Amino acid sequence: MPAKRSGEFEIIARYFAPLAAGVPGAFGLTDDAAFLEVPGGQELVAKTDSVVATVHFLPDDPPDLIARKVLRRNLSDLAAKGAVPRWYLLDAAFPKRVGDAWVAGFAKGLAHDQAEFDVHLVGGDTKATPGLATFAITLLGVVQAGQGLRRNGAHAGDEIYVTGTIGDGALGLLARRGKLRSLKPKQRNYLIGRYRLPQPRVTLGPRLLGIATAAIDISDGLVADLGHVCETSKLAAVIDETLLPLSAAATAALAARPQLIVPILTGGDDYEILFTAPSSAAAAIERLAAASGVPMTRIGRMEAGKGVSVLDAQGRRRKLAQGGWTHF
Ligand code: ADP
Ligand code: MG
Repeated sequence: MPAKRSGEFEIIARYFAPLAAGVPGAFGLTDDAAFLEVPGGQELVAKTDSVVATVHFLPDDPPDLIARKVLRRNLSDLAAKGAVPRWYLLDAAFPKRVGDAWVAGFAKGLAHDQAEFDVHLVGGDTKATPGLATFAITLLGVVQAGQGLRRNGAHAGDEIYVTGTIGDGALGLLARRGKLRSLKPKQRNYLIGRYRLPQPRVTLGPRLLGIATAAIDISDGLVADLGHVCETSKLAAVIDETLLPLSAAATAALAARPQLIVPILTGGDDYEILFTAPSSAAAAIERLAAASGVPMTRIGRMEAGKGVSVLDAQGRRRKLAQGGWTHF
């Protein structure tokens, strides 16, 4: 017998409308569109991100985790712009075989992260698909007009910083695929957890306003994403591999297999913020790291020129076949 499956309007009313309760202008998802009030002097910052079954998740992944991950990918982008996230729209295509229990799990994941990050569902679209499950979330946030962080603001001589630790997501994916057998189960599970549920730097991002000159969220790989800052800022970047902040699990993995430096540098799924700042901002960055409890580590410097160079422990330029993940 197929799983119980409500119609489109029942799904919206039962599972999604409760997530819109906190925003009067969402009208309980009973109108055509939401009316959102942007406070004077602020501007909207908007981003869409979608996930497709088999590309971004496996069909038997838990629905609450799938929902939280797609929301968090967007939260990470807005954090890197220094924006405060407020509202999101959800475009959901559920495969025909998916029943109410799955949709309920998906909505439960959203409810969890709404509470954690103080964002609210305000609209979207719901359909059944004969194809793969696909979920797109459009996240809207606000920032003081003209103050948001861009990729293109770096200056020659700026220091390059990253939040948190780098490479856990990429190593987590390897661990999940049964690799990294030399690690202790606890370390493997730590890395898998970092891959499955990123921790976007939502409260930290807005606090980088006035400190960072450029910022980007690291989702496709450190080298590739730093490359975007270089291109748009028309500069080169030199990073010192020995300065990279690594978790204890990543450190152990790298000690066992030095070649893992490649996925650490290029693997993606970090959802940390990379930012540049003048050396005069060092004390402010240290204070912010202490106050927020999020480590911020200097890994290199912006220079005149083009492209990203990674120096190894001997100071040699490392050759990397590619900087990060691309779809095509
Ligand atoms: P329309 O027929 O005008 O396109 P719908 O019937 O698709 O409108 O949607 C009715 C309301 O429900 C709208 O406010 C829409 O934004 C909202 N909605 C539909 N699907 C979702 C969803 N997956 N998440 C949040 N809101 C949704
Ligand atoms: Mg309509």
